[in-house]
Amino acid sequence: MNIEQILCDRFQRYVAISSQSDANNQELPSSSGQYQLAQLLHDELKNLGYNNITLHPNSILIAHLPGNKPNAKTLGFIAHLDTVDVGLSPNITSQLLTYNGKPLCLNADQQIYISEQTHPELAKYHHQDIFFSDGTSVLGADDKAAIAVLMTLAEQLITTKTPHGDIYLAFVPDEEIGLRGAKALDLKDFPVEHCYTIDCCERGEVIYETFNAGSAQLSITGITAHPMSAKNVLVNPNLIAADFISMLNDMGKPEQTAEREGYFWVTDINGNQNTASVSVAIRDFDQEHYNARKSYLTTLTAFLRHKHPKADINITLTDIYNNISQAMGSDTEALTRLYQALENTNIPAKTIAMRGGTDGSALSVKGLFTPNFFTGAHNFHSAFEFLPIPSFVDSYRVAKTLVDMA
Ligand SMILES: [Zn+2]
Repeated sequence: MNIEQILCDRFQRYVAISSQSDANNQELPSSSGQYQLAQLLHDELKNLGYNNITLHPNSILIAHLPGNKPNAKTLGFIAHLDTVDVGLSPNITSQLLTYNGKPLCLNADQQIYISEQTHPELAKYHHQDIFFSDGTSVLGADDKAAIAVLMTLAEQLITTKTPHGDIYLAFVPDEEIGLRGAKALDLKDFPVEHCYTIDCCERGEVIYETFNAGSAQLSITGITAHPMSAKNVLVNPNLIAADFISMLNDMGKPEQTAEREGYFWVTDINGNQNTASVSVAIRDFDQEHYNARKSYLTTLTAFLRHKHPKADINITLTDIYNNISQAMGSDTEALTRLYQALENTNIPAKTIAMRGGTDGSALSVKGLFTPNFFTGAHNFHSAFEFLPIPSFVDSYRVAKTLVDMA
């Protein structure tokens, strides 16, 4: 079987296991499908002849592929087990279609089509075989394409007796709901020199900058009163919440910002006659700007307390993840080697500052600089997510080249 066939077979096997994460479940993993997938990967690695495989109850799976090449760097690769819940079907039915420039029918029963008109990025993939879902779910190339790449790598290294250094693979749960698995990963179990995530992005994409991300939770307790006797008594927490939100207006919103601009995103408002709360996501690439955003919110809270002295107003600020590049320091070798691997495989590099986070953002907080490279897929978190096979194969080629170069 050629590499393309092996990758495709594995991909189809992995997406067939439903593993949506569940933001409302605080357990790790947040869903049993993720453990089921980790168990399958564990068994497949054992069957390949690897013995040093640990599947933790929290669904973190770590595989050590012992090296047989002296003086090679110890490499780590990470992929996530969960698919995102955006209100689509949790069950994924993948299909392989050839794109020939005409609108493609993803689902005849429900009349779901994809075309260049709505998805111009398809234009790059004429005459290619492409994985799609049936239009009712995500495809799950995010991140099962990466899982297929890493499992194929493990298989090829052992079956072709390729010389390589020590390699650690980590498959982690719950990336989509706050990088929970990567946060729980103990680096003692993952003693690597150069580390990479494989996640998202079209062919050639490299990410070594992500947002600094945090959240703010404003809680307000007012004073209730019957409207007939409310004058100078009633303190309406909903109006204080509105006051707070209005003061975020000129500070950047997701719908008004792009590239390296940061923002405040008001994600939730709750209120009644007695209490109100507002949740805000805080994002900025630059650490100083990020810190300034947090102090702005603190200052705003102090101002609101002054303006509404009878209300009880509190804010809680939580850091979620860091910009990966902050962990890079002066040792840029992991990144240099990644660009070299792209060059060696004739894939033009496209570096983007990602307006989000990857598992690497959580690892960089622990001091492990972890850049990301592409799976080859497009339209994550959408029913129109797709994975062109040549790009998928190229993702594998980059991983393999990094191993050869180590
Ligand atoms: Zn992902």
